[in-house]
Amino acid sequence: MNCRICGRSLNQENDLLSINCGGDCWSCIGEIEAQMGYDPSFEKVSGEFELGVRPNLAGEKVNKMEPLTEKDKEVFLAAWANFERGETKDCKCTSCGSLIFFERRGTAILHHCSCGKFTGSLRGL
Ligand SMILES: [Zn+2]
Ligand SMILES: [Zn+2]
Repeated sequence: MNCRICGRSLNQENDLLSINCGGDCWSCIGEIEAQMGYDPSFEKVSGEFELGVRPNLAGEKVNKMEPLTEKDKEVFLAAWANFERGETKDCKCTSCGSLIFFERRGTAILHHCSCGKFTGSLRGL
């Protein structure tokens, strides 16, 4: 059986990306899901890319991989400090200009902006 999208042979033992996802391979499905912004798939796809298993990195959050500049870090830390104090001052993303949003979920703090540059999470705080 082959992937309906790329034709790759499915469920090959030596090919981690060939897992059968309902008739399509994980290589194709993972890429599509990552591009759609589905976080668990994006994380997995990124991990595979880092391991050299996946040839190209898919998904919008590629932005996240760019190192932040000193100015970016300043902006982010200021926004975070405001959030911790319960203030909502205008701390805007240096790329897209949208506000940097923070949200506490359990022990993690999720933060995001429109372009994804400041999208991510702080854990265990
Ligand atoms: Zn495929
Ligand atoms: Zn942004």
